[in-house]
Parts: sequence; C-alpha cells; structure tokens
Amino acid sequence: MHIKSAKIKECPYCGSRKITTGIQAGYAAVSTGRFFGSSSPLVHDICTQCGAILLTRVDRLDVFQAKYEKQKMKED
Ligand SMILES: [Zn+2]
Repeated sequence: MHIKSAKIKECPYCGSRKITTGIQAGYAAVSTGRFFGSSSPLVHDICTQCGAILLTRVDRLDVFQAKYEKQKMKED
C-alpha cells in the first residue's frame, strides 16, 4: 500500500490547510540496515505556510514489511 496524498488536512502548528508532500531520496533514504538496495525514500507532508513537517513515512513499505517478516520468523 502506497500513500501518495497527504492524510493530514490541517497543520497543527499554524492551522493552515495548504499542505503538500515532499520526497527525500538519494543518500537520505532509510535502509533496513542489512544490505544495499533495501532502502526507501522518505515522504514528508509539509505545511507550505510555516514549513513544519507534519508526517514522515517511508515510500516503499514492501522493503520494511519483508524485514519484519524475517524478524518474525526468527522470533517464532
Ligand atoms: Zn503550518
């Protein structure tokens, strides 16, 4: 499941509804820490009024879901 549009409708800091998304990729990607290639860009919901980052999430859920599944197998 990919979340492409902003879920937050109003900035809790300034009350603005002018919210858009930004992508943080390249060296700033979040990785699973296991091997190269298993990483995801970050998606931020950004208030265009005050610049606050309202929510940060990974764009590629599958990478982290796969890691979680492996983690779970070890625990069982
Ligand atoms: Zn704001």
